[in-house]
Amino acid sequence: MRSRTNLPRYAAIAVTGLLFGATQLSAQTINVTLLGTGDPTPTIERFGPATLVEAGEHRLLFDVGRGASLRLTQAGVPIGSIDEVFLTHFHHDHLNGMTDLWMTAWLPPAYGQRSEPWRVFGPVGTADILAGLRQAMDPNIKIRIIDEQLPAAGAEFDVTEFSEDGVIFDEDGIVVTAFAVDHGEAIKPAYGYRVDYNGRSVVISGDTRFDENIIAMSEGVDLLIHEVVAARDELLDFDPRIQLIIDHHTTPEQAGVVFERAGPRLAVYTHYVLLSGPNVPEVSIREVIERTRTTYSGPLQAGEDLMRFVVGDTIDVIPHNP
Ligand SMILES: [Zn+2]
Ligand SMILES: [Zn+2]
Repeated sequence: MRSRTNLPRYAAIAVTGLLFGATQLSAQTINVTLLGTGDPTPTIERFGPATLVEAGEHRLLFDVGRGASLRLTQAGVPIGSIDEVFLTHFHHDHLNGMTDLWMTAWLPPAYGQRSEPWRVFGPVGTADILAGLRQAMDPNIKIRIIDEQLPAAGAEFDVTEFSEDGVIFDEDGIVVTAFAVDHGEAIKPAYGYRVDYNGRSVVISGDTRFDENIIAMSEGVDLLIHEVVAARDELLDFDPRIQLIIDHHTTPEQAGVVFERAGPRLAVYTHYVLLSGPNVPEVSIREVIERTRTTYSGPLQAGEDLMRFVVGDTIDVIPHNP
């Protein structure tokens, strides 16, 4: 399978104009767009964690970090067209784009027009969080229903919670399986997801340290999208709290072991936790890749915001090219 992997980073640029956009979906492929590859750090280069998966007629969004609405718009995807949302865990950087996306997609312009409750899937606790958002937005919702006659149902959530590994979504040939990951003792629940459609598959690790469950769930997967953490040794000496953060995530060397054992057609990095401090610069993406290469020799792509992957007989990698 691996020999069929196509990594036409340069060739793909030539077809960007043909493939990029909301209307090029194929029934034969899963299309994945990295909307945000960052962590809580506010930076224009990497928005908050959010990954769009387009399969068949569905647009599924995994986490809704900072700026998800903006990146969807840049990708040519109307924000009102997101059918289902899946939350991995409750760190704020994974859901602080929720209110914007949910409320703005309800507005009448062409980008919005949501008139039905927004379907959100997540571990137990998701419903409480959404009830809190709903309460916070209640004055806005009441005003817009009275003033603009917006459809009341479009401001509601349709929540599905789960508490164990298993299939949580199975519609129109799309199967989403949730699996627990290990983000640290105090950070529970924490889940990753696998999407299967038409013989293609994508795994999204969520936030996790090295976890056997990801390797088991990624067997035979096409695309394995994984988080990563890295810091220079000088930083560890300087601030012991850095080790606490590292212990919640997966180092490049550990991710390489995951990739090597899981054997995806293509491994992709997202959610870069690149720690820095006074006089200690962050580890570069190039160094992240080099460190990964000490434990993994297979196909690997450093993800970027708005990078797109068309998963079919080949896996086409399409960087954002404004
Ligand atoms: Zn987290
Ligand atoms: Zn995170």
